[in-house]
Amino acid sequence: STAGETDIFAHLESEVRSYSRTWPTVFEKASGSWLRSESGKDYLDFFAGAGALNYGHNNPILKSALVDYIMSDGITHGLDMNTVAKRELLETFEEYVLAPRGLDYKVQFPGPTGTNSVEAALKLARKVTGRESIINFTNAFHGMTLGALSVTGNSMKRAGAGVPLVHATPMPFDNYFNGVTEDFQWFSRVLDDAGSGLNRPAAVIVETVQGEGGVNIARPEWLRALADLCKERDILLIVDDVQMGCGRTGPFFSFEVAGITPDIVTLSKSIGGYGLPLALTLFKRELDVWGPGEHNGTFRGNNPAFVTATAALKHYWADDKLQRETLRKGERIRQTFMNLSDMFDGVSTRGRGLVQGLVFETHENAQKVCALAFEEGLLAETSGPSDEVVKLLPPLTISDDELEFGLNILAEATAKVQA
Ligand code: PMP
Repeated sequence: STAGETDIFAHLESEVRSYSRTWPTVFEKASGSWLRSESGKDYLDFFAGAGALNYGHNNPILKSALVDYIMSDGITHGLDMNTVAKRELLETFEEYVLAPRGLDYKVQFPGPTGTNSVEAALKLARKVTGRESIINFTNAFHGMTLGALSVTGNSMKRAGAGVPLVHATPMPFDNYFNGVTEDFQWFSRVLDDAGSGLNRPAAVIVETVQGEGGVNIARPEWLRALADLCKERDILLIVDDVQMGCGRTGPFFSFEVAGITPDIVTLSKSIGGYGLPLALTLFKRELDVWGPGEHNGTFRGNNPAFVTATAALKHYWADDKLQRETLRKGERIRQTFMNLSDMFDGVSTRGRGLVQGLVFETHENAQKVCALAFEEGLLAETSGPSDEVVKLLPPLTISDDELEFGLNILAEATAKVQA
């Protein structure tokens, strides 16, 4: 039934399209944790715009802020001009996010996407240090432009784009070896060894939980050891919180779990709140060595996104309720996934907060589970180096009943595939 509906996509849209192949239907509407297809079938969304919809689709609080703003002829496109909407976002970000955490960051609007934020972070690190090379990690994902791609540790994603533009050296992510000490002894040795081929790096870029890389978790002690090493060696630490920020793992910033303060932080996806493109790059005040216009872009002033971002921060981050609920619901997913891994050989699980992965031995099995789930009305996506991990990123606002509904579908699909 979907073939006819999707013809124009196959005919006109490039072969590069991806999610449309995983979910071969035409979606029309969405509300809360649900998407509805053109033919009227409802799908529970355990993917939430790849982490861009932490507050759900068409969140009513954000929607009314947006509608009011548009109806009042508020500025839509504002370059980087001072606007009332930007002022309110900056004030709110300081009051609800930075001040309560004792963070003294400056805020850059690097362009509309997560990739733009990563590019700004890499460029700033190079400008501040006068050094060029970057340390990244195995299985990292940081974006699709040539700079961000250079620090992405996934050969499939890099294959299409040729030689990295930035000199980047991948180091093993946490759990590659057994212990924290071994990892960092190795790292230190390489840094000291003139024959290692590693130029003195400007920065290390890391995700605290690798989303695209397959829900790989960096332990707090590993992150602390990394932060210490960076400090000792005068290397800037960039935490890419594009996917794990805005409460995905519980706290607003994913690095809070380790008690570290990165030099530079990237945010995007759910910072706009309503699914509107917005990105921020945060950096320690003394790192603001940018001259006016040195990193610009036409779409740095997405004022409607400022408005929804402000409304989301005010509504969801005035207290720790969202954080507690995220951790509680994450634990609920973990229970189901632990049961599945007890029941079936070759199935395991890992996660933090509301990013949870069900890990299969082969990508065929993970993909079969997602395909069966889709038939039953659930969107779940795979991630990992060979797409062997079913990754759940439900809206943080998902209800308990919705969560149960989705977990039942996944449990049944897993049982079928592993039988
Ligand atoms: N960094 C991380 C950690 C991401 O997960 C992503 C997107 N999946 C990006 C950067 C790139 O963001 P965008 O797709 O908005 O450019």
